[in-house]
Amino acid sequence: MANKNTESNVGLQQSTHSLPSYLQADNLGPWGTFLNQVDRVTPYLGNLSRWVETLKRPKKALIVDVPIHLDNGTVAHFEGYRVQHNTSRGPGKGGVRFHQDVTLSEVMALSAWMSVKNAAVNLPFGGAKGGIRVDPKLLSRGELERITRRYTSEIGSIIGPTKDIPAPDVNTDAQIMAWMMDTYSMNEGSTSTGVVTGKPIALGGSLGRREATGRGVFTVGTKAANKIGLTIQGSKLAVQGFGNVGSIAAQLFVEAGAILVSVQDHTGTIYSGSGLDVAFLQQYVQSQGGVAGFPGAEVINPNLFWQVDCDILIPAALEGQITKDNAQLIKASMVIEGANGPTTPEADDILVDRNVLVIPDVIANAGGVTVSYFEWVQDFSSFFWSEKEINARLVSIMNDAFESIWNTAQKHQVTLRTATFIIGCSRILQAREERGLYP
Ligand code: GLU
Repeated sequence: MANKNTESNVGLQQSTHSLPSYLQADNLGPWGTFLNQVDRVTPYLGNLSRWVETLKRPKKALIVDVPIHLDNGTVAHFEGYRVQHNTSRGPGKGGVRFHQDVTLSEVMALSAWMSVKNAAVNLPFGGAKGGIRVDPKLLSRGELERITRRYTSEIGSIIGPTKDIPAPDVNTDAQIMAWMMDTYSMNEGSTSTGVVTGKPIALGGSLGRREATGRGVFTVGTKAANKIGLTIQGSKLAVQGFGNVGSIAAQLFVEAGAILVSVQDHTGTIYSGSGLDVAFLQQYVQSQGGVAGFPGAEVINPNLFWQVDCDILIPAALEGQITKDNAQLIKASMVIEGANGPTTPEADDILVDRNVLVIPDVIANAGGVTVSYFEWVQDFSSFFWSEKEINARLVSIMNDAFESIWNTAQKHQVTLRTATFIIGCSRILQAREERGLYP
């Protein structure tokens, strides 16, 4: 028999453009959106575009079974993921979300947006993301702890302070990070605070981390408003999602004189032409679990949220919210993406045509991971900074990154999203090229 070890049977003839089916854009939701965004940036990458295939394939994707004992004595199985999209510039970095709609495609896209985001603000990280397909609202506290610990154990071999550092995302918080840190540390046999960020302060967490994403949204939002001549004082604001990101961003804009006219979350949509009381709404959501029933506000049909009369719109919930169907209804002159991937590519084009400025997720919500970086640095040096110092460094990084993105957009006459991708992807692919291929 002839030697079978030819080029064709070791796969060398495979075109670099024929991606495995699970990586293709069609019907892949958020991952399809990401691939579309990569195609849009490729013409601007010069010689580095020969490495662009790197961005279209996650470096590593792990799917894990997460079985736990429920309180009723039965065993339930959940599906968990951890995807490391790229580690050319440093360890993987990105949150973990617990949500009933989590899929591999979604986690892949979220990990890829982390790569671009981390590079765009020049943090020494690659991009990663994790998730469990579960509705955490249906779990007791004990079940939540067990699912978190088992998931952490299952992904334990690929995470670590120099490998991949998880953090909070949708429906995960400081307590969940504490359980993750403890589980990883118990398995390792030594306390490892740097394995996750967004921890409680007593366990090596950073001051200002909880507010950081909202503060970053506010920082770049005010800078962008300045560029287009929009005055924050007296401007009308609508926010989708009133968790960590939306509620803090709303608070900071209101403190700067904006009027919060509408908030939508998974429980309902509320409106008040004269302005909602942010502090009261924060307390209400904390105790009631959502905005529905907020005293003194009008209840409006969820579909009307997108056409609310406002100047600034902040989607701060999930991806795929601004679509070709509602993009033409938006009245705001500026959309600041607190969420990851809230705008589809078709909607992006409509907003450009309608002269609505979109500040993309990959810069708008980078404040969270920037303070995660500070937390990681503080944990390594076991030396902790004041909140004033943290906020000042955060604002300075966000301002500088936004300025260079704005200038790149002007130079190439592209959207802020493509400009952020030009900066982020160039940094990733330059590192990729300089490292070379191993072996
Ligand atoms: N989940 C946040 C994000 O999407 C923060 C991730 C982190 O701090 O690592 O940017």
